Amino acid sequence: MSKLEDIVSLCKRRGFIFQGSDVYGGLAGTWDFGPLGVALKRKIMQTWWEYWVDKRDDMYGVDAAIIMNPRTWVASGHVATFADPLVECNDCHGRFRADHLGDFGEGVTTEEFRAAGAKCPNCGKSDWGEIKKFNMMFETHVGPVTDDTSIAYLRPETAQGIFTNFKNVVDTIYPDLPFGIAQQGKAFRNEISPRDFVFRSREFEQMEIEYFVDPENWQKSFDELLTDCHEFFENEMGLKAEDIRDYDVPAEDRAHYSKRTIDIEYNYPTGWGELMGVAYRTDFDLGNIERESGKSMVYRDKMTGKSFVPHVIEPSVGVERLLMAVLTNAYHEDEVNGEKRVVLQLPENLAPYKFCVSPLLKNKPELVEKAKEVYQLLRKKYQNVTWDDSGNIGKRYRKQDEIGTPKCVVVDFDSLEDGTVTVRDRDTTEQTRVKIEEL
Ligand SMILES: [Zn+2]
Repeated sequence: MSKLEDIVSLCKRRGFIFQGSDVYGGLAGTWDFGPLGVALKRKIMQTWWEYWVDKRDDMYGVDAAIIMNPRTWVASGHVATFADPLVECNDCHGRFRADHLGDFGEGVTTEEFRAAGAKCPNCGKSDWGEIKKFNMMFETHVGPVTDDTSIAYLRPETAQGIFTNFKNVVDTIYPDLPFGIAQQGKAFRNEISPRDFVFRSREFEQMEIEYFVDPENWQKSFDELLTDCHEFFENEMGLKAEDIRDYDVPAEDRAHYSKRTIDIEYNYPTGWGELMGVAYRTDFDLGNIERESGKSMVYRDKMTGKSFVPHVIEPSVGVERLLMAVLTNAYHEDEVNGEKRVVLQLPENLAPYKFCVSPLLKNKPELVEKAKEVYQLLRKKYQNVTWDDSGNIGKRYRKQDEIGTPKCVVVDFDSLEDGTVTVRDRDTTEQTRVKIEEL
């Protein structure tokens, strides 16, 4: 099995991530988070929010509606151009993203594609139809009438919910430039070929910041935000510096309005892949809103009196991609007492549980009672504490190792005498005696 398969298998076995709508045979490109997965995901999102919003003086949060006025997506260009090159195999009628079948850009033409002689991943033939542009937005209708006037879209990014609230935030909070608006939430893309577990799915969660700057000073803010992104990944998410690299996207591959884009890539089990993007988007988005809405997006600097439409730098990360990086980094196999062990070395701040408490023996009421007491004590102190009295102690350790619980606390007969417990460390498997009140 590849490391990715190992991780997928662990996620399913231990209740982190399941195939979406599993009971009905699944729905391609969707995933459901189980009890441990949702705990990990929430901790990642909470840590991000604390780092980028709560601990800073220059960030403000919003939580915009998922379904927005469709003019949003006309203004942003998504209706016209948010499309992938779709190609169909004439033989088996399998449909694929043309740019995934070879070394092509998203703008690959039918002629270039056919000339390269790519083989159908389904049937192995090389007989292709014309490349068509396939818009990735999910369409729906708002209200009881389903005609062209009621069309709406599930948002393909959270960013537009920030831009459309730029004026609201300025007019209510009066922030000084530079400042950022942050949002977390679901986004939807009708991917032609979802793949690599949660890496490319049709419904996912984003954490985005639009950081508004005076165009004269964009470079300084860009560099600072990029540094902060690395600090966040390494210090808050526990990722290793050598598994993260910056890819400076060359001009021909950037969006036409972007003067600089850095893709921060992570060393996934499937190879280096995009973890997040930091893009200098100029005044492209606010300018579009001005044109479409007819409303001014001009910001007036209180100190200098200078008036202008701010430029923006966008650090944008997908929660599932980050979660996959965190899992990749944490997943280890080693040997303990001659037995293979799987251990999730999650950083303590992200582990679903900080402690697991158990009585050495389940059938000794005095041990169970004391262990329950310790459990309640730790729960009050740390919240995320779990209880396990199933199987033998070795099995409990293996289970807690697999779900990343840093410490297992075991209450035995000595505990009743001297008020100490065994604390077993996940990573070293070392056991120490600790006084209950020192936990
Ligand atoms: Zn085929």
